[in-house]
This record gives sequence, structure tokens and C-alpha cells, in this order.
Amino acid sequence: MTPEEYGTFFATDLLVADMRRERSQAAQQGRIGPSSLTCRERVRRIKTGAEITDKVISTSALIGTYIHEGITEARRTINPKLLFDVKVDIKLPNGTVMTGSADEVDIEENSVTDYKTVNGIAYRKRVGADDSHLRQVHLYALGLMQAGVLQPGCIVRLCYVDRSGADEEPFVYQQEFDPAQILWIEEWLSDVDYAIKNKEEASRDWPVTMCRRFCPYYSGCRPDDIPSLAITIPEVAEAANTYHEAHLQESEAKKIKEGAKELLAGVEGMTREGVTVRWLTVNSDNGAYERIEVKKARGGE
Ligand code: SF4
Repeated sequence: MTPEEYGTFFATDLLVADMRRERSQAAQQGRIGPSSLTCRERVRRIKTGAEITDKVISTSALIGTYIHEGITEARRTINPKLLFDVKVDIKLPNGTVMTGSADEVDIEENSVTDYKTVNGIAYRKRVGADDSHLRQVHLYALGLMQAGVLQPGCIVRLCYVDRSGADEEPFVYQQEFDPAQILWIEEWLSDVDYAIKNKEEASRDWPVTMCRRFCPYYSGCRPDDIPSLAITIPEVAEAANTYHEAHLQESEAKKIKEGAKELLAGVEGMTREGVTVRWLTVNSDNGAYERIEVKKARGGE
């Protein structure tokens, strides 16, 4: 097997394993869960069994899943009294039933916590918890209270971990269970049911840039967003393809830079080839941070 073949098989195995996960299968089988509540039109399509039109391949999400599993294992080892990956059946007051899996439950503290791995948490620290994440953990709390595992007034908590590893401190948000969140979810879902009943489309809640990257219904749902004019002038087509190729190379170079940067943490000096490495302190509105500067200096070999 060549290195390229091995790499292709390796990446495919990860994707296939991910597709076999319960949450992926639930969406494919028309079932929605607490993590599906991001776009009403998407939920409508899941519920009506609409055709999936796009392959969504997110290596970053896959890696997030593996980090998530590692975090759970570490927490389980150190905190044997906590419950992990707790299956929850949730019944909304309007009769809607959902099933989910709560990451961490602390019966003694009367709390439920959901882990979120994100690429860089500076933004999350600045703007706070994501609304859809907050609703998701509220649904787990509701199911856990209905099952008698947690008591009224429990704590709902989100723990954001930086999957890039740059920020060692997680960002934690918590609050007391808020019944208004459940009412909000019910109204949101009743919009979807109304659309299904009246054979209409529901609200497209995601910005189109997110749809392009992450939605398996994108081509069917947003056909107007896909340019339909054919590019027939050979030079122009070549320019488009070259641009795309350069973009891929740029992304690859960025990943290589990030990997090298990790190895250069705290390092300053010059290589025999004349490459200098410095760390500069930059002051910004969000506080000071360190920026690496790598240059080719004169005098190297
Ligand atoms: S393409 Fe966007 S708007 Fe349409 S279903 Fe997907 S997420 Fe919703």
C-alpha cells in the first residue's frame, strides 16, 4: 500500500465509523434530537425524510468527537461518582418526544454538563454560550428531571474546550434550569410542524455560509446560491481551477505552519539557514497575546 492509499483508507475509515454513530443514524432515519435544533428547515427535511443532497465531510468535527471521547474518559477516571453519556428520554409539554445523551451528570450537585470542543475559544469567551448549545443542555436537564435523576432547579452547564490546544483553560457557562428555554423550543418546533402540515418550507435559520459548509441538504435547499452559468472561456476556467488549487495549498500550508508553531512555543533564535524565530507581545482590546515572527535573516548558510 502506498502512503497515499493508506491515507485515503485511514480517512475513509474515520468517516464510515462516524456515520455508524447513533446520532448520524438518527438523522438519516428521520429522527431529531436535542442537537438538531439549529435550523427549522433542516429539521423539517429530517422529519419528512427529504433526500440528502450533499456529503458533509468535516475532519474538524470528527477530531472534535475523538477529543470529546478522551475528555469523557479522563473525567470518568478521576470522578467515578459522576455519570457519563447518560441516555435521556425527553418529553416536551406539547407531547414531542426526543432521545439524547447527556455528557456528564452530577446527582450530588444536581447538575448536567455538556462538553463542546471548538477551534479556538477566545470568541466564545467574548460572546458567551451559544444559544443552541444552551437549549440542547436544557433538554437533557428536562429529561433527567422527568426521570427523577435530577431535581427541579438543577444546574445546566456548558464546558467549551479549545481543540487547537492553544487555550488551556476551558470556558464554562452555567445557570439554573430555565423553563422559558423549553417554551422557546416548543414554539420553534411548532413552526416546523406547521410547515409540514401545510406542505410549506420552514424558516431557513442558518446563514448561507454555514449551510454551504455543514448542511447535507444544501444543494436541494439553497439551489439559488449555486451559480448556474457555465464558465466556457478556457483561460477563465483555468483561472478558477488554479485559484481553487492555490486555496487548497494555502489551507495545507496553514496547517503545516500551525504544526510547526506548536514545536516553536517559547523558542527564540536562528537556524543555520538563517531563519530567525522571535515571540512578540501584542496588545489588543482583548488583552495581550504572543505572536510568533519567523523570518529569513541575512548571514545564514
Ligand atoms: S441548507 Fe441551510 S437553510 Fe437549508 S436546511 Fe440546511 S441549514 Fe437549513
